[in-house]
Amino acid sequence: MLSFDVCECGAPLQRMERETPQPKGTEVVLRVLAAGVCHSDLHIWDGYYDIGGGQKLKLQDRGVKLPLTMGHENVGEVVAVGPDAKGVKVGDVRLIHPWMGCGECIVCKRGEENLCTKPCSVGIHRSGGFATHLLVPHPRYLFDITGIAPEKAAPLACSGVTAYSALKKVSDTLGQAPVVMIGAGGVGLMALALHRKMGGKAAIMVDIDPAKREAAKAAGASQVIDGAAKDAADQIRAATGGGAWAVIEIASREWSSSQLRISTSVPSVSGQWVKSACQHSLGCSAAKRM
Ligand SMILES: [Zn+2]
Ligand SMILES: [Zn+2]
Repeated sequence: MLSFDVCECGAPLQRMERETPQPKGTEVVLRVLAAGVCHSDLHIWDGYYDIGGGQKLKLQDRGVKLPLTMGHENVGEVVAVGPDAKGVKVGDVRLIHPWMGCGECIVCKRGEENLCTKPCSVGIHRSGGFATHLLVPHPRYLFDITGIAPEKAAPLACSGVTAYSALKKVSDTLGQAPVVMIGAGGVGLMALALHRKMGGKAAIMVDIDPAKREAAKAAGASQVIDGAAKDAADQIRAATGGGAWAVIEIASREWSSSQLRISTSVPSVSGQWVKSACQHSLGCSAAKRM
């Protein structure tokens, strides 16, 4: 099999050739059909996460070791199954849930492996999808995507669950009042699409980039607002009829820190503020503030 690995932070990925894994026990091997690139991959490649205030969290501090095959948004076709792998067969096309835990602790046992303190996530702690083949430890991580093209389904594994997790936290108000979403990048547009499917009334998208505001408009945002405008807070206030019931922040840290000031000046009436990030980013996939 081939993979393209980070061997040195900031250096080009290296083409690696090794034996294609043979599945044992409950393991499943898939041929990679689609692999998304997440913004977090850039942090991994850099070698650190910028956590603001001039502080950096290094890869080693998160248990990430090089060389690493990145890629946590993957769809593959099953090419081999271990003798104990049930419910999946050669030829099946599956989305791979990447947020794997130890499988043994309390949070893993209750089905929240993404919160495990000993994570072994695909493309971060174990080999990911920037490769021809991928080994998955158990069929429970595989999801049927019948009817969705692999390249469209792949981002659901991170971008999709990140946006969904944030929206779910404000689901009580989605059908009644407009939600303000700060950041109209990949995850922001994913949230916009999901918002509609979840019965959302209206979504006001805030972004400092005119191209992204345009994309949000084309994707069905009820209103777009320039986050860099001096009167951005006034515009948000007017668009929400006096204050937002729910604000979801889906922007990079450098960018969002300036947005934060706007958000805090929005008179949120008993509102909710959800900060959304890639599921594995610093373990703070979503913080909630009332
Ligand atoms: Zn665990
Ligand atoms: Zn991600």
